[in-house]
Amino acid sequence: MFSLPLRDRFRGITRREGVLIVGPAGWGEFAPFLEYGDAEARSWWAAAEEAATLGWPAPVREQVPVNCIVPAVTAERAAEIVRASGCRTAKVKVAEQGQGLADDLARVAAVREALGPEGRVRVDANGGWSAAEAVAAVRALDAEVGLEYVEQPCQRVEDLARVRRETDVLVAADESIRKADDPYRVAELEAADIAVLKVAPLGGVRACLTIAEQIGLPIVVSSAVDSSVGLAAGLALAAALPELPYACGLGTQALLENDVVADPLAPVDGLLSVRRPVPDLERLRAVRADDERTAWWLDRVARVAPLAGRPA
Ligand SMILES: [Mg+2]
Repeated sequence: MFSLPLRDRFRGITRREGVLIVGPAGWGEFAPFLEYGDAEARSWWAAAEEAATLGWPAPVREQVPVNCIVPAVTAERAAEIVRASGCRTAKVKVAEQGQGLADDLARVAAVREALGPEGRVRVDANGGWSAAEAVAAVRALDAEVGLEYVEQPCQRVEDLARVRRETDVLVAADESIRKADDPYRVAELEAADIAVLKVAPLGGVRACLTIAEQIGLPIVVSSAVDSSVGLAAGLALAAALPELPYACGLGTQALLENDVVADPLAPVDGLLSVRRPVPDLERLRAVRADDERTAWWLDRVARVAPLAGRPA
């Protein structure tokens, strides 16, 4: 049971909590967000159990490129983040509440300048635009810096399809893919060019490999702000995919102020080496949650674990 402080508030939280389990194949992480119900948490348990009991399919590559993350900060700060990261791909948050297109344009322009002409700029709106706003913003941002793709411009899958039809920019679905059936709906409605997959909510590395094979879209593997134990599962998926045309969203270790391993999965020059760090006893002690939170998590495990194999 761990409770890791975040460097900055993210998704409205300041700490990331979860449980580590260990089995014959190694360590697994069970860390569904606190507001998730038991039905949703079951796939997270399935992913943790896979890591602990089965392990993961063999990698087909030794390194995985990752993007750096640029929050909705000022242009100056955005450039600093990109330069400090060493990454060649930057994911820039746009459509932030209280900001406008001018802020987004200034931010992506600063990111482009920091990356240089060879770097890739992708933007993530987290569903913050209406379809009409998205079409206008995506065209303007693309004209300014040339976008690699736009991630989740709108909330509704139908609106993603419209943005895809009405702009020349590739569309990636992220929030539209949270449950095992979702990727198929996205593919069926021709709503995205790229699917963002996260191992834990989709029930494990094997489950994601099956989805990738069946939907026939390029995959970007992303994390759910996991500890390095959880990140290792995402890395295993990225390493096992037959094709990996885009940098992955697995460079999130830097969001955490502490970790459960001594050698965290942090990228070097924009690349993560494929490996599986193991928890460090001293670190585990340092990040252990208090008794009340531990009891809460043990109760959650007791509710979710016996049901993990059953359909939600
Ligand atoms: Mg996203």
